[in-house]
Amino acid sequence: MGLTLGALLLAAWATRTAYASCAHGTFLSPRAEDGTVEVGKFGYTGTIGPLNWAALDSPANGACATGTRQSPIDMVDGVFELLQGSDVELTVNDMPEGAEFENLGTTVEVITQGGSLKVGDKQFELQQFHFHLPSEHLDNGTSQAMEMHMVFQSEAQEIAVIGTYINIADTSAAAPSKRSRVFGRQEAKPPATGAVAATTLLETIFSVVDKIAVPGTKTTTPPLVMSEVVDVLKANAFQIYSGSLTTPPCSEGVSWHVSTARLGITPATFVKARDVIGFNARFPQNKPGEPNLLMVSALGSAAAAVAAIAGAGAGAAA
Ligand SMILES: [Zn+2]
Repeated sequence: MGLTLGALLLAAWATRTAYASCAHGTFLSPRAEDGTVEVGKFGYTGTIGPLNWAALDSPANGACATGTRQSPIDMVDGVFELLQGSDVELTVNDMPEGAEFENLGTTVEVITQGGSLKVGDKQFELQQFHFHLPSEHLDNGTSQAMEMHMVFQSEAQEIAVIGTYINIADTSAAAPSKRSRVFGRQEAKPPATGAVAATTLLETIFSVVDKIAVPGTKTTTPPLVMSEVVDVLKANAFQIYSGSLTTPPCSEGVSWHVSTARLGITPATFVKARDVIGFNARFPQNKPGEPNLLMVSALGSAAAAVAAIAGAGAGAAA
């Protein structure tokens, strides 16, 4: 029975390839075999926005409205288990010929060429990384300029994501040394402004983002050196929790690793990225294990409607 249900769910997921941009390239959302870039059918505003994702494809997207371990969330210091970057095995292959860079309509995504994350005895393979603007997770209640999601999948089809905040770089800072390109909160507290130097990888990727301004288009980035970001992630820590995809179908069981590191993007490059991405952050969800905010909201709305009707009745009677 359980197996049959599982198989049915897998089959259902496989047919909904345009719904899972956070999980694009994984078993939840395989790439089109002919290489075309499929544009997402959901969005971030109005009736295709996150308040209504469950209704866009019911019951497949049900977890978006009823799940109790949904992402993103507010990452409050001291609440989450910390995993030191030095305690995980993380590798991401450089891409000397550049990488495919796609506009999925709901995000812009770099298709990677090998990489892995090993946590304990679990091994995950890197599929892609993509960007959210502004950040989806909050750092102690504060959104950051952007957030990068590196999406990994295990052989058992479990998903792990590394989330890394991206701040606006302080362009008045001295030319960055390799070490100081990214600020690690654990090794040095950034100034109160959160100033950080630009990350070369991000500047390189977004130098061509204007070539994929139209959803459904793709281009090739200049050569990408991944060690810069990998070194920074390893030198910092991950706040870990079990959450969900932040896009439909909002599947749970996602192993989140939200880094304490900061990447940086220059103001001019941020504007270029913003002009293409627009806005693609799901609203912060309730604490893991607590009721889905949409359920809380539905009950509150129903109570308000009942009160309004009772009030109208009382008014008519009076
Ligand atoms: Zn994402």
